[in-house]
Amino acid sequence: MRLRHVLGRFEMTRELTAADHAAAFATLAAVLAERRDELCRLDGAIGDGDHGVAMASGFAAAAKAAAALDLKAATVADVYNAAAKAFLNAVGASSGPLYATALMRAAKAAGSRPATPIMDTPKLIAAMADGIKARGQASEGEKTMLDAWAPAARAGEEALAENRSPGDVIAAISTAAEAGAEGTKAMVAAKGRSARLGERSLGHIDPGAASAVLVIETLSTEWLRLAEA
Ligand code: ADP
Ligand code: MG
Repeated sequence: MRLRHVLGRFEMTRELTAADHAAAFATLAAVLAERRDELCRLDGAIGDGDHGVAMASGFAAAAKAAAALDLKAATVADVYNAAAKAFLNAVGASSGPLYATALMRAAKAAGSRPATPIMDTPKLIAAMADGIKARGQASEGEKTMLDAWAPAARAGEEALAENRSPGDVIAAISTAAEAGAEGTKAMVAAKGRSARLGERSLGHIDPGAASAVLVIETLSTEWLRLAEA
């Protein structure tokens, strides 16, 4: 009886409820508000300087919409769909539809369930990466946010296939996102606003890839923390 109780609790703690996913968005909104000016400066170098505002206001709206749901009754899919809709409405820049699609794909991957096991979260990262690729039609190497999202998604799937611990999986995802974003410095922009700069985009990190690292790292770290709380 006691053992079953303990095991039951162990299982419980590895799940993320709809409220947990909403809480992770709140943390992400706070992180992006803090890094807003830095992201705007990166976008100022090769774009129009609004990327920090787009990401901070997009995730602020997403977090607010998620928190406004009846989180005791909501499914995880409800949280991501509400976030997607709010992000799209709040952001006029090209990151608006890219993240809205990413979040809608995450909703579909999470499903109409009251909670998701922590080991399903790399699938959310992979679904978001697929959504960004489908919406933006970029290929890796074209100096976009996909250069952080795609390797992060692959790293998560590989780490899962190797049966690594949740902490290791999250670490692999974050490391791959960081390396991918760093790699954009050596790329010439071929998509989006900065493509107009051609060779002059060399040497600068892509702002969308830089913010993708914050999104990926913050969400995965929060998922892990909340699952173990
Ligand atoms: P805008 O360029 O409309 O001002 P943002 O500043 O919010 O939009 O976002 C710029 C970022 O969007 C770029 O740094 C890049 O990472 C990403 N981006 C632009 N076009 C695409 C695309 N087609 N596919 C994927 N990402 C893209
Ligand atoms: Mg911009």
